[in-house]
Amino acid sequence: MREGTLRRDVLRGMLGIVAADVMMAGGMMWANADVTPKVYTRREWGAVPPRRPPRVLDRAPDHIIVHHTASPNASDLSRSHAFELSRQIQRYHMKSQGWDDIGEQLTISRGGHVMEGRAGSLPTIQQGRLVVGAQSLHHNDHTIGIENEGTYEKEDVPGRLWDALVGVCFWLCTAYRLDPSVAIIGHRDYNDTDCPGDVLYRRLPRLRAEVARALDDAASHADPPHPDPPHPDPPSDARRRLTSRHHRRLHGHEE
Ligand SMILES: [Zn+2]
Repeated sequence: MREGTLRRDVLRGMLGIVAADVMMAGGMMWANADVTPKVYTRREWGAVPPRRPPRVLDRAPDHIIVHHTASPNASDLSRSHAFELSRQIQRYHMKSQGWDDIGEQLTISRGGHVMEGRAGSLPTIQQGRLVVGAQSLHHNDHTIGIENEGTYEKEDVPGRLWDALVGVCFWLCTAYRLDPSVAIIGHRDYNDTDCPGDVLYRRLPRLRAEVARALDDAASHADPPHPDPPHPDPPSDARRRLTSRHHRRLHGHEE
């Protein structure tokens, strides 16, 4: 079995895609499926409340920014370590940087655990809206940020972290109807920073390609779109029509 096929099968199993409608726009296809990966909530990792309620925009972001935390490449892949990482980042962002809350919307540990970041991130993603973070100076009102634990200047990205990152980007591209080939970028594309490290930055083309394949795969396993009204058949066919779903340490990401 080719690696790509295997990965797609793993991803499909992981995300529980069975069958869904397909949404088409601008040449892209997204399955109307729930592809939300396991994301640990703020309550689960023990976040403190934000200083101020989050600012929520009634629109989707147009870019997904990939970061590294520039913290040590920990060998502890446990969930408790992942939760501690989120608490540490939140403390750093609120106490040392003086921000309202943790800066990023999502955090992924080296063990592949995904945590909600800024308050409200998880429900707003599901609604196709954006919680404004503090993760890319001058670009916070149109981007969503993923912090990946570690420093990737020289060392390679661990498999579990990578698979989780692919799954998260697949989810975000589906929820926000984004084309991964243009939407996924590195922090250095917007700001003067080494983030997300040379190694992770050089992997972005592969990330875009893997996410695009996952989207294609999800769309091809979903019910085909029905752009034309169905025949004068039973009204139950109507529900099969295309549905538009409403559907260093922890480096400084300037607010
Ligand atoms: Zn960054």
